[in-house]
Amino acid sequence: MIYQYWNKEMETLERSALEAYQLTQLKAAVAQALQTPFYRERLAAVGIRSDADIKDLEDVRRIPFTTKGDLRTGFPYGFLSIPREEVVRLHASSGTTGTPTTIYFSKEDIHRWTAFVARSIYATGCNKTDVFQNMITYGLFTGGLGFHFGGEAVGMLVIPSGSGNTTRQFKLMQDFGTTVVHATPSFLLHVQAKMQEEGVRREQLKLTRAFAGAEPYSEDTRRRIEELLRIDVYNSYGLSEMNGPGVAFECQAKNGLHLWEDGYLGEIVNPETLEPVPDGETGELVLTCLCREATPILRYRTRDLSGFYTEPCPCGRTHRRLRRITGRTDDMLIINGVNLFPGQIEEVIMAIKEVGNNYLILVEKEGVLDRLTVKIEVGSEVFRDDTRPLNALKERIRKTLQASITINPRVELHQQGSLPVSEGKARRVLDQRPTV
Ligand code: AMP
Ligand code: ZN
Repeated sequence: MIYQYWNKEMETLERSALEAYQLTQLKAAVAQALQTPFYRERLAAVGIRSDADIKDLEDVRRIPFTTKGDLRTGFPYGFLSIPREEVVRLHASSGTTGTPTTIYFSKEDIHRWTAFVARSIYATGCNKTDVFQNMITYGLFTGGLGFHFGGEAVGMLVIPSGSGNTTRQFKLMQDFGTTVVHATPSFLLHVQAKMQEEGVRREQLKLTRAFAGAEPYSEDTRRRIEELLRIDVYNSYGLSEMNGPGVAFECQAKNGLHLWEDGYLGEIVNPETLEPVPDGETGELVLTCLCREATPILRYRTRDLSGFYTEPCPCGRTHRRLRRITGRTDDMLIINGVNLFPGQIEEVIMAIKEVGNNYLILVEKEGVLDRLTVKIEVGSEVFRDDTRPLNALKERIRKTLQASITINPRVELHQQGSLPVSEGKARRVLDQRPTV
């Protein structure tokens, strides 16, 4: 494999030099943060009054964490650290509850962000001969414009198709010879199911790659999309608080996501003690933005669970790789006292070949107990007059799930295409238990 680099010097910079660069950027981020009343107060409380109080990278641990709640209290302009006239764009997080969190960008911030997205795209082997269909929501969500600008910077022909409307997506793919797409993994699975329904043959498409992110998915789901669509799928990770896409991305070795450490300082902490976990272990990812002036954010608790791989990547990049994000510290379900991440269910069912592209986890109260139902789509060939194969499959899925999650679920099988599909982030969990 020949690996290509967008910014070879930075991507392969020796660790000591990379860390020296991070320290310079961290000092700049602290100086910028001190321009906001929020951080002035927070940092003063721990004795940080100027960037001179940050002497080495370890000093990052003196800085208090920032949470989504903190960002909300600053809505709308509390975290803005440059004059309003210098701001050229804002984005807001998709936030499932309450006040959104808003991030502001200066011209320079947009350039820096774009360069990280371009670097990510280029690391997957794309170049200006590619036609890139960006099948994700444009607007306040960062995925649309973030990839759009990054794709243009690489020189690809960018089709701003947005999400949804598969018929139109297929038409665009055929008309312009799309080679690369960006979407959520669930939308990619939906696209594949629709291809069959609408009679679009794989040979009519020129697809080679997809960037899939914005929601957790398993390695099995990745493989499934790759096999069904006959493309390479690269995991794309980002969050609006850290600009958006282009925070961490898989290279062609596809063995974890390189965190672009010249732009983002990463730590993995135990979500309960908030102390660093030993090298290589899983914990909550905490990020400090090192590449933005308009909205400095230090030690942001992402709630995303990951960990660093410790061995080097064959691609030669020195930026550490994050393991696939398996879930968040806050999507954990507790079912009759047993902790469960929706991703665990996905991992099990997506490894079963009869299972289709969509599923839904339903949690209800039945008497005093919690009841877990997993609704799963399966191919229509299983639905016959003779219900024995269907029942056998159902029982096999139930047993496999139970063995893995230690909870006995109810399993329902549904016809392909009959469960609700969302065009943005998939809503896979319906928790109908009354809140206590
Ligand atoms: P937003 O700020 O709306 O872009 O949402 C960011 C959140 O989406 C992250 O904190 C993650 O929880 C999730 N997310 C984004 N990309 C991925 C990915 N590749 N794998 C898992 N979760 C992701
Ligand atoms: Zn690599």
